[in-house]
Amino acid sequence: MRLEILTMSEFEKTKGRLIIIPFGSIEEHGPHLPLGTDAIIAYELVLAAAQKTDILAAPPIYYGVCRSTKEHPGTITISGRVLRNLTRDIIKGFVRQGCTRFILFSGHAGSIHMASLKEVGEELLEENVVEKIVILSILDLIDEKLGLETKNDSHAGELETSLMQYLHLNWVKGEAIEDYPHFPSFLLVKNKRKYWPSGIWGNPKVANPTKGKKFFAQLVQKLMVIIEKLKE
Ligand SMILES: [Zn+2]
Repeated sequence: MRLEILTMSEFEKTKGRLIIIPFGSIEEHGPHLPLGTDAIIAYELVLAAAQKTDILAAPPIYYGVCRSTKEHPGTITISGRVLRNLTRDIIKGFVRQGCTRFILFSGHAGSIHMASLKEVGEELLEENVVEKIVILSILDLIDEKLGLETKNDSHAGELETSLMQYLHLNWVKGEAIEDYPHFPSFLLVKNKRKYWPSGIWGNPKVANPTKGKKFFAQLVQKLMVIIEKLKE
């Protein structure tokens, strides 16, 4: 069920359901994909899973913590502190409504972003606010069986471009190249765009809508396994 279109009376009947919250980012995704790609894909996957089982799909959190893309045009990052506080407040809001089991599913897999979600998840568990909480990103669902041609595909490459071509073909524009970031080892740099001008990590050239459809179905299936496990 899609939470945002439920009425008060409908919501009341769902008491105690498992809640799945999609997370994303407003972030450059190369010259060809929308800034909201991560949340758009995560929400589509969550909605598809929610159609197959009795969970509540919450509306997505569109903003996330972006580090390596924050100087690129269009990236609007928030701090880990804000993401932790926002997540904490939203989860406590659900707990007040009788929901205690959660899946936080992120289409954005930045290290500080994911660490922030995990930190607040650990705190909520320790404080006995939540009964169960699962935290994962779309990258956690990728394995060899998915059939990606690109070995090191992570941002605006084969997977995300194929998925977006399948879900919203008219939102995919222009030419994109195969590229990868070239940041110096360990050294933090200010001018991040200099080391990663394209903002692409992977190969969007081998993407197509047919692959997108196949990837989408498999990712929903993998998400379903996690949901069913948590419902036990
Ligand atoms: Zn992305």
